[in-house]
Amino acid sequence: MRPFEFTRAEDARSAMGAYRPEWNDGGAINAASQYLAGGTTLLDLMKLDVMRPSRVIDINALHDTSLGRIDAGPRGIRFGALVRMSEAADHPQVRRDFPVISQSLDLAASAQLRNMASLAGNMLQRTRCTYFRDTSYPNCNKRSPGSGCAALDGFNRPHAVLGTSNHCIATYAGDFGQALIALDAVVEIAGPRGLRQITFASLHRPPGTTPHIETTLAPGELITAIMVPATPFARRSLYLKVRDRESYEFALASAAVALDLDGGTVRQARIALGGTTTIPWRAREAEAQLRGKPLDDETAAAAADAAYARAVPRQHNAFKVELGKRTLIRALHQAAALEI
Ligand code: SF4
Repeated sequence: MRPFEFTRAEDARSAMGAYRPEWNDGGAINAASQYLAGGTTLLDLMKLDVMRPSRVIDINALHDTSLGRIDAGPRGIRFGALVRMSEAADHPQVRRDFPVISQSLDLAASAQLRNMASLAGNMLQRTRCTYFRDTSYPNCNKRSPGSGCAALDGFNRPHAVLGTSNHCIATYAGDFGQALIALDAVVEIAGPRGLRQITFASLHRPPGTTPHIETTLAPGELITAIMVPATPFARRSLYLKVRDRESYEFALASAAVALDLDGGTVRQARIALGGTTTIPWRAREAEAQLRGKPLDDETAAAAADAAYARAVPRQHNAFKVELGKRTLIRALHQAAALEI
């Protein structure tokens, strides 16, 4: 591991004050200054020499502020950015009113990691693309902009089929993000000019021609909270994750589904996909397929076809298109059958 400066921040202002915005031409997430929360992504990538910050700013003391709190009420729920994954997953109101959130967190990583990792860190976790994480491969546009993409013609079984570009096909590794985008979550961000809010859907950037720039965060900005509104469909929601083994594994395909039903008819559906996508992926075409229709085999299949209509498979991951569709169909039927 390379030498770096280490500093502890007592509050958001001192954290942002310690940030050095001047070394940011590689994108905020590749920046020379990095905030340290649970460290479950950052420290791994520093040991692998993928991330090379010159300054690490420990923000864990902020867990004692609103950044470490969960505030639940009739209008929804507010998660402080430093709430640990396990804290959020176990919260009684999250389990009851937002099951897709608790399930997405419970199905991620291991118990030890869920006890360490913060919610905001989880949202920003980086891809598990082997070529990104192994610096012996020179061609990775995400790690080294302009160097090419080894995965395009390499082993691309785990890679994405939706949201890809000719510059990067890396899969978004998270699960929580799918739940958040399905439920119209909002992200609160502290920056030099105060607080701002954006939709969770606008936090992540598809790879396009600049896969090294992964989010719309400006240099030095700090996520402080995530808000999820109470909605008619949040209670009838679930997260289905399909993977090579049942535990401690990333998704090959996943679906976050929330339904507002009128008898057997879909008033509104919320659908997000993971394991097959480069960013948390809202499948609005699939939602539109279901609106005002009964949920049955035919409409669920039509929604799945719509969800994957723009898929671009590669040599080793074509199976993900069918797997993704079947995952979504199963999730829709399971959500419709929930007794609430
Ligand atoms: Fe790098 Fe993206 Fe290509 Fe993986 S898929 S090698 S992260 S550019």
